[in-house]
Amino acid sequence: MPERQNQPQNGAFLDLKTLFSQRENKVGFDRTFPLTDSVDSVELCGEARVFGTISDYSGVLQFQAELSLDYQTQCDRCLKPITRTLKVNLDRPITKTVDEDSEEETVLAENDVIDLALLCYEGLYEHLPLKHLCSEDCRGLCPYCGTDLNEAPCSCKAPPDPRLAGLAEFFHE
Ligand SMILES: [Zn+2]
Ligand SMILES: [Zn+2]
Repeated sequence: MPERQNQPQNGAFLDLKTLFSQRENKVGFDRTFPLTDSVDSVELCGEARVFGTISDYSGVLQFQAELSLDYQTQCDRCLKPITRTLKVNLDRPITKTVDEDSEEETVLAENDVIDLALLCYEGLYEHLPLKHLCSEDCRGLCPYCGTDLNEAPCSCKAPPDPRLAGLAEFFHE
């Protein structure tokens, strides 16, 4: 995890021109900014934080940072709302223009400005878990009566595992 190097600042736009003010070859940054949006099944809520360093290796800038953002969604099994924090580590070279042909993942700094919010969306698309569970052993809802089986068992006779339930129906026919 990159260390905190600077005082936290607000704003999603990182201007490389002002960041590299002296003759440094490595600068730290720590930004928080509001990020609220809905993306697929998740709702971004509250603040995003991106902190890390940019290093100048003889003119090639390398972006190394951790981004962290809060999101809300619901448990796939019991539908309870859950809030999670997604943390993504990025370590990529910075490019000033979009190169459609390049396979390399880069951080775009158009006019020397990096849009950290854009990086957060990218991180979200690439690293959002496919499954959302309130807990690994969530028992889910009864497929017959809808009871939340985490809270109370129900009196339905069918087995709680939906795959077995399907099998039971098959044998009843
Ligand atoms: Zn659940
Ligand atoms: Zn039931």
